[in-house]
Amino acid sequence: CTNSTRMPSPRKGKRSTSKSSSRSRSRSRSRSRSRKVLKSPPTAERKTRSPARTKTASPARSKADTPTRGKPQSPARRGRSVERAVTPTRRSARLENKAKDPEFKEPLEALPSMDKSKRVPKTTHREFGGAIGSFFMLFVLPITVYGLNIMCDKKSCKPRKMKIPTDLKLFFDWEAAAIYLGWIAFQAFIYLLPIGRLVKGQPLRSGERLVYRCNGFYAMLISLAAFGGAVYLGYPVKKVHEKFIALITTGTIFSFVMSVLLYIKARRGPNSKLAPGGNTGNVLYDFFIGHELNPRIGSFDLKFFCELRPGLIGWLMINLVFLTEAYQKTGTFPPALTMVVAFQALYVADALWFEDAILTTMDIITDGFGFMLVFGDLVWVPFLYCLQTRFLQEHGDSLPWYCLAGIAILNMVGYTIFRGSNSQKNEFRKNPYNPELAHLETIPTSTGKKLLVSGWWGMCRKPNYFGDILMALSWSLACGSSTPLPYFYPVYFTILLVHREMRDSEHCAKKYKASWDRYCERVKYRICPLVY
Ligand code: NDP
Repeated sequence: CTNSTRMPSPRKGKRSTSKSSSRSRSRSRSRSRSRKVLKSPPTAERKTRSPARTKTASPARSKADTPTRGKPQSPARRGRSVERAVTPTRRSARLENKAKDPEFKEPLEALPSMDKSKRVPKTTHREFGGAIGSFFMLFVLPITVYGLNIMCDKKSCKPRKMKIPTDLKLFFDWEAAAIYLGWIAFQAFIYLLPIGRLVKGQPLRSGERLVYRCNGFYAMLISLAAFGGAVYLGYPVKKVHEKFIALITTGTIFSFVMSVLLYIKARRGPNSKLAPGGNTGNVLYDFFIGHELNPRIGSFDLKFFCELRPGLIGWLMINLVFLTEAYQKTGTFPPALTMVVAFQALYVADALWFEDAILTTMDIITDGFGFMLVFGDLVWVPFLYCLQTRFLQEHGDSLPWYCLAGIAILNMVGYTIFRGSNSQKNEFRKNPYNPELAHLETIPTSTGKKLLVSGWWGMCRKPNYFGDILMALSWSLACGSSTPLPYFYPVYFTILLVHREMRDSEHCAKKYKASWDRYCERVKYRICPLVY
């Protein structure tokens, strides 16, 4: 067991044995000392990091750092050898044997390396251009959502000098406010229902693991049923289309208010709950990036709730409004529009079906919950990601069947890469000893976690981003080539993911040090094999 060979406690136990004159006495002393060490992992962690320890540990480390095949290091074998070697690692052996149980969900490798110092240090590194960049983003993000939706309307969808509508009712409407807030309340109500699995998140700095209620898929089904009921009962769902800009305004105001409240909550809460990346002390920056990592009201996790429900399911509902309108107008389901709605529905359903996979993503484990994520989740996603379907509904679709077939193939290739890679990493993080992943090569790291270097994650460093970009491109291709505006999504998304990959790579380089360099040497391409 890589972790155990690096743990200082066993070696300490051995050394004390050799120093003692009486073998039996030393064995029992060693045992009790070892048990103590195991009960206090922070001490063990600190000791592992001390230079003296590093020296003694170096042969093991160099061996460990070379990529290893999963199979020869089977948990059972390692468990046995470790158990024979020294007493404290009996616990590791027990845990490893437990890991063979497919139901076992503890990320074993994460446990020994947790940083138990509860205080979140001041953030020194600033992203997005620091406070000035964050300040501009507070305007740029809403203006982009308004701008694109005003530029691409029923009359025309071409980049042009924007004429800001003078009718204020277009921008704010109490009915739109009621629809938006009612939708958020409806989703919050479903989130609170005691249905769906309870899943533990990744260990926090304190070692604590938050519990999340994963009922997002049910939320989608209930929302679909409600939508069907509304259409059946004759509720004019097209109001959502008519009041689109007013809905954006409500969403934007809601996001600002929520972000301010989140910031105040974070300031009043304990330091240990802050996000490591959003604790600069600069109000503007922390407000934008997110001051608190996992803000909760009781067991209601605000970030987890916003990430996949009101915005993502809202996007699906808006698409269905467009499809319903097209059907009511023409009596048929236009092929390109129907296809894109179906692909995006698959994307949303997939995210909700694998809802617990979000618990290992950057948004949950690294980023705080501030304006960037709040606005992204509650406005950007629902009101911009539907640009292609709105264009197709308002301007009709004209591509021949063979183009649509090619687009469908591109979407499915993208989906296969996206789903395959995300599931592989998620399963590996949940249970690194999963027998189904035993054939994969890994690189151990000094934190105790391993990095996958074969399978999807050997193809490039972010195969999941690559698949996502292919899907985004396919949705826009369905809009034809008459205007560039529906291509905003894949262009913006590629920029976002390139930047995100750099951010994540920086985090991983800090976290995994030499092992990350070795991973990058081994897996050369970042997002697109042979290209980037
Ligand atoms: P990832 O799911 O790639 O998560 C990054 C983390 O994965 C790293 O910090 C690291 O964390 C772990 N990791 C990285 N490389 C390896 C490896 N080789 N082996 C094992 N673990 C590794 O990134 P995101 O959270 O950014 O994205 C998740 C999904 O969401 C993606 O499919 C992305 O396309 C999608 N997405 C969609 C957006 C949208 O708007 N539609 C926006 C952003 C993302 P650790 O080692 O600590 O576990």
